[in-house]
Amino acid sequence: MANKRDYYEVLGVSKNASADEIKAAYKQITLKWHPYKHVNDSEEEKKKAEEIFKEASEAYSVLSDPDKKAKYDRFGHAGIDGQGAPDFSNINFEDIFGSGFGGFGGGLNDFLNNMFGGGFGRRSGGQPQERVFRGRDIRTRVKLSLEEIARGVEKDVSIERSEPCPDCGGRGAKNASDVQTCSHCKGSGQEQRIASSIFGQTITYTTCSHCGGTGKEIKNPCRTCGGTGVVRKRVSVKVNIPAGVENGMQLTVPEAGHSGQWNGPKGDLLVLIEELPHPYFVRQGKDLFYTHTLSVTDAMLGTEITVPGLDSSYKVKVEPGTQSGSIVRLKGRGMPGLKNYSGSGNGDLYVKFLVWIPRKLSRNEREVLEGMRNNESFRPAPNRDDRDLFEKMKENF
Ligand SMILES: [Zn+2]
Ligand SMILES: [Zn+2]
Repeated sequence: MANKRDYYEVLGVSKNASADEIKAAYKQITLKWHPYKHVNDSEEEKKKAEEIFKEASEAYSVLSDPDKKAKYDRFGHAGIDGQGAPDFSNINFEDIFGSGFGGFGGGLNDFLNNMFGGGFGRRSGGQPQERVFRGRDIRTRVKLSLEEIARGVEKDVSIERSEPCPDCGGRGAKNASDVQTCSHCKGSGQEQRIASSIFGQTITYTTCSHCGGTGKEIKNPCRTCGGTGVVRKRVSVKVNIPAGVENGMQLTVPEAGHSGQWNGPKGDLLVLIEELPHPYFVRQGKDLFYTHTLSVTDAMLGTEITVPGLDSSYKVKVEPGTQSGSIVRLKGRGMPGLKNYSGSGNGDLYVKFLVWIPRKLSRNEREVLEGMRNNESFRPAPNRDDRDLFEKMKENF
């Protein structure tokens, strides 16, 4: 993943480009570089077109998905890595080129996925491949307290998902002999057509009319699952959440999503992290911020306070003459770093002091204070920075 180009740069748009501008940029690249347009070119040209189109499609698949875009904007490539191969299912070519556009047909996603799997062009020769039904991914979210995030936690997440039918073993029929490969499409679920379009000659794939795209012929469908091979079930999945995760991050639990029909591969469970607000800490990355209000006498005379931590509390010395707004740093008392992401070291805990001025005074207190009103030590010290600033301003007159 090293040296991956910035997605905005790939599409040639600015970081604050609108969804329409992103779409228009991708359309331009597609019109020029779609490999279907370069089928009759030299190997070198074909390779170049494939590379450019591939890169642009990956960029568009992220930037056109608000969820992924937000993550990419925040964390860069690190925010969306580890989610497996790019997913192009959200690229809607009808939406980009307008309805009535028939250039790429239904095989486009397979086409792109083949391309990323390194099997570009595999379809054109040899036997059609039997269709495999991968189960869909499931998205869910977990709410975590800062304490849980600081320690790392194992959470039970309840989801409803497709599981292989227990009555037919996921086959779709009681007897294995009742399930046969569609003779019409040889199990691929698709019919191939050669057609002419704005890109020249193109190959389109349409759903097999014989089997409805399943690639199968099932004689006595299982009554429990209706022949689909899957049933819905509510299950509890244990999700290991490492210490140091942040709000908006997504964890992948491989193969904990829906089971594929007819024993197809399982999808993943995607868990979005939601951080609950903390009663007194504000988190910024690995650092924590805490505000403590001192009485005016404690600020003047000094004292010792207790700062609550996430797993133990800390004693902090307040120096005599502590100013309102001053900050002390407790090194290493912040959040743990997330491994391989923000570094493994801990962040810091910042304690900010505010001084509370009493609103009501007894006559006695008032008298004492009146007596001190003109004391030298009660006069605020001039702010050096401001004085320098005034000197500079004077020079300009
Ligand atoms: Zn068929
Ligand atoms: Zn069944």
